Amino acid sequence: MATRNTIQRQVVLSAVKDLRNHPTSEEVYSYIKPKFPSISLGTVYRNLNMLSETNEIRKISANDNAVRFDIVLEDHHHFQCKECGSLLDVFMDYDYNINDGLEKKHHFKIDSCDVLLSGICEDCLLKEVSC
Ligand SMILES: [Zn+2]
Ligand SMILES: [Zn+2]
Repeated sequence: MATRNTIQRQVVLSAVKDLRNHPTSEEVYSYIKPKFPSISLGTVYRNLNMLSETNEIRKISANDNAVRFDIVLEDHHHFQCKECGSLLDVFMDYDYNINDGLEKKHHFKIDSCDVLLSGICEDCLLKEVSC
């Protein structure tokens, strides 16, 4: 049975899927709002957190300190552009031997790795060249 809560959850999940660009809760809210005017930012935020707790989406934080949500669940890293702030996915083979080395050195138990690279994106580099 689809309760009001499950419907809201589905709406929020599909918004993150549609947006794809690591939206913040505000961005998800503005996307949903025209279609579901009765939904509040608090509801959107609560659903985003529930979805990340059940691992249907990932919660990530970037250099701007905004909490963002990611629909890509497989291991990957991010690159944030210092000019335009866009957050891009970076897929690279992660060397799990690094974990072993760090665990031995620091006595950690590492269970995930989320690298945030920063610099200037391709679009912004092209803009600089044409100016
Ligand atoms: Zn850029
Ligand atoms: Zn991502």
